[in-house]
Amino acid sequence: MRAEIIAVGTELLLGQIVNTNAQYLSQGLAELGIDVYYQTVVGDNADRIRAAIETARGRADLLVFTGGLGPTLDDLTRDVLAAYLGRAIVTHEPTMRKIEELFMGRGTAFVESNRRQAHLVEGATPLRNDTGLAVGNALSVDGTHYLLLPGPPREMKPMFENDGRTWLRGALGEANALHSVMLKFSGIGESMLEDLLIDLIREQNDPTIAPYAKEGEVAIRVSTKAGNAEEAARKLEPTLQEIRSRTKGYLYAEEDIPLEAAVVRLLEQKRMTLTVAESCTGGMIAAALTTVPGSADAFLGGVVSYSNAVKHRQLGVPMELLEGEGAPGAVSPETAAAMAEGARAIADADFSLSATGVAGPAGSEGKPVGLVYVGLAERGKPTRVEKLQLSGDRQGIRIRATKRALHLLWQ
Ligand code: ATP
Ligand code: MG
Repeated sequence: MRAEIIAVGTELLLGQIVNTNAQYLSQGLAELGIDVYYQTVVGDNADRIRAAIETARGRADLLVFTGGLGPTLDDLTRDVLAAYLGRAIVTHEPTMRKIEELFMGRGTAFVESNRRQAHLVEGATPLRNDTGLAVGNALSVDGTHYLLLPGPPREMKPMFENDGRTWLRGALGEANALHSVMLKFSGIGESMLEDLLIDLIREQNDPTIAPYAKEGEVAIRVSTKAGNAEEAARKLEPTLQEIRSRTKGYLYAEEDIPLEAAVVRLLEQKRMTLTVAESCTGGMIAAALTTVPGSADAFLGGVVSYSNAVKHRQLGVPMELLEGEGAPGAVSPETAAAMAEGARAIADADFSLSATGVAGPAGSEGKPVGLVYVGLAERGKPTRVEKLQLSGDRQGIRIRATKRALHLLWQ
């Protein structure tokens, strides 16, 4: 299905507001497997809205409108579409009652134009508006689908997520439904991952392979259209197999969960515990782990050892490592290892992670911004330390250091 998003509103053309609805809807439609071919912006003008509908009908099968469902005379979307399709405007009674009750409750004078928000193009399915008054419209006419959503994002988003999605799924038909698997990676950059999979990405057709990148994490969505879950699994499996075998050590989950959730799950499965010792990340590793519900059995706690004094007193890092002529310093593999070992000892945990580095903007100890050491101490095994040279601003470096420390549990 090819879609066009039509954002209606003169204030968009004047640059007074940003068309965030188009971005939101493009993402939401992509998730449903609907290809967005065009985004249009048109002012609150009946002739031009009509012309936009005419053009869009020639190049798309789904027209998604936002804006112009409100009460005022410049809110034209419904009326113009009804006239274009040669259909009447009818009243959605539940919405009308909601509007009347609201105004009675307030004791304010009833403004007649408010009734417009209960209007439907004849034959349209009403879409519930839980955060506002205007009812949404959805209808299919001669093979073209029309979805009319309000302009305010706080009304548009829930309407799209609830009744909008449900209606679109029906319009798409079961046979067309998109099934996808999200593969999540860490410890590897977007371009390196792409390099490992370049031929698959180039030759992709069905299933499709779409990369995503957020700070410190990379994801790939592998999708296919199928009638049911078994058929989808059959179509997806060969591609998934190939990606798994090429990305060993980096693939941490086959669903859209953050790395910290995968770490907690892994520890729970092994019935093992973890502590942390954090310098440049200042508690971010602990914060990430504690966002995961039920992490208390696996994550015991840790020390934010920002100063050398705390590294020494709380974690037992030898002062000779930290300071003095020829000492490796706080940002060193030796200190990262000693921090991890010290943190493990505090609570006799099975594992402990550490991070020490230069987050910037200024260097420290004559070491460059972005130099970070992450360590992993493990009961009965030698401690491992990884040297990282991270890029980005201070916060970006801290986020990446957090992810890379957590990733040590995968290697
Ligand atoms: P209302 O009942 O508020 O009049 P409406 O459905 O008629 O809703 P508009 O009048 O077009 O919508 O826009 C109302 C407000 O919603 C705008 O002032 C703006 O703040 C926001 N809005 C509208 N369109 C968009 C858009 N495309 N992206 C982001 N925000 C938007
Ligand atoms: Mg309006």
